[in-house]
Amino acid sequence: MVFTPTRSAGLERLSDFLPRAGRAYANSRNHDNGTPKAGGARSNVSQLSPWLHAGLLSETEVIGAVLGQHSPSAAEKFIAEVFWRVYFKGYLEQRPSVWRSYVETRDAALARMEGNAGVRTAYQEAIEGRTGIEAFDHWARELVETGYLHNHARMWFASIWIFTLRLEWELGADFFLRNLLDADAASNTLSWRWVAGLHTKGKTYLARPDNIARYTADHPDGPLAAQGLADDAPALEEAVEHTRIRLDLPQPVSPDDLAKPYALILHDEAASHVPLDLPHPPALVIAAARPQSRSPGAIGAKALRFADEAVASGVAEAALAFGATSAVWEEDRNLATILAGAGLDRVVFPYLPTGWTREALMPELAPLIDSHRAHVILGDLSRATWPHAKAGFFGVKKQIEKTLRELAITGPPSDTAIQNPPETLGEAN
Ligand SMILES: Cc1cc2nc3c(=O)[nH]c(=O)nc-3n(C[C@H](O)[C@H](O)[C@H](O)COP(=O)(O)OP(=O)(O)OC[C@H]3O[C@@H](n4cnc5c(N)ncnc54)[C@H](O)[C@@H]3O)c2cc1C
Repeated sequence: MVFTPTRSAGLERLSDFLPRAGRAYANSRNHDNGTPKAGGARSNVSQLSPWLHAGLLSETEVIGAVLGQHSPSAAEKFIAEVFWRVYFKGYLEQRPSVWRSYVETRDAALARMEGNAGVRTAYQEAIEGRTGIEAFDHWARELVETGYLHNHARMWFASIWIFTLRLEWELGADFFLRNLLDADAASNTLSWRWVAGLHTKGKTYLARPDNIARYTADHPDGPLAAQGLADDAPALEEAVEHTRIRLDLPQPVSPDDLAKPYALILHDEAASHVPLDLPHPPALVIAAARPQSRSPGAIGAKALRFADEAVASGVAEAALAFGATSAVWEEDRNLATILAGAGLDRVVFPYLPTGWTREALMPELAPLIDSHRAHVILGDLSRATWPHAKAGFFGVKKQIEKTLRELAITGPPSDTAIQNPPETLGEAN
């Protein structure tokens, strides 16, 4: 699978996958069939996560396109998975201490490893795929080589990391963030915590050899063997209690807010202007990618390239669409200087969710926010869903139908519908 970091490549992948987003997806999504030997994309999952994370595609348009081809009941599973992404985002917004505490415990674990040769060796063997556990070693190499892992493989991998290899979960989460094209502070941190028994307290995920063999049976190298796995998964515990804070969402932006000349900032999680629906064009479009801030360690070449080029391609498209100039806000370049150079004093940027991009950009954005010279755009789907992401996914799940109805997400208008034949039953591979 080639992941090209442009909106048009994401739309193409969406269009290719649409016929299989209905019951075929529900029936086959749990199978890790590996990367097809002949090349190309997987057929049973969408592999859209890199484009969704980068904001080159929005959840709303993906769900709308799926509902343009499938009934709500046929598409229920796929839509629920997209809502898992929105749920995790909303949950982390209300418990940002989960992210802060991850960063601190990760740094402490990295420092401890420096002084412990045994852990260093075990860690190196794990990330280089040299543990001797065939399935695990396969996924470790696949992650580094491709920047993508199937959801089930991520679950098995995290479980083996924590309960069989007995490595600290934060080191594994960091390894994922450094290499995944879709690396996401919310989905990654909360999924690792879920496997470890920290998200749903006491409930862990145990990887079992028979389950791995069953769901990798059609893998080009499968079924994958997983010898010597732990046979129990006692939940991890933590001393801190992550209390929920009140959601503090930005006011919706009105056309008047954007009437004065402004700069639009596109970043790692919102690289395209298209989902933003701006009533007035920006005078300047600024690229602010911060993939290096994912970790104190080296970021994988594929992940780095995807993130940087997603923002660069989004900015080039926006500048062209609006007839605006563009600039790059690099880490060692001052935002105030860029704005002054363009004769501007106000900015608009898509919401920065809890995570490394927010932490990297906020110090320079804060003065603009404080002086009311910054407007923040939050998509309607997140605005409607996040308040329900207080505890478990169920709170969000039971609102999905209502949310889609209220936001009129029912499928694309007929003249923009992506043309594909309807799904045929029994198509699941
Ligand atoms: C340990 C672990 C770490 C993870 N880290 C990340 C991460 O950093 N970034 C990330 O985007 N996802 C993460 N996930 C969730 C999930 O594995 C990926 O979103 C999914 O595998 C992406 O592949 P896909 O696009 O083919 O998914 P599909 O099955 O085609 O699903 C469609 C979309 O729904 C969303 N989605 C699907 N499953 C999940 C899920 N379980 N949780 C949240 N969203 C989901 C994704 O945006 C995905 O693109 C992680 C899961 C685990 C168990």
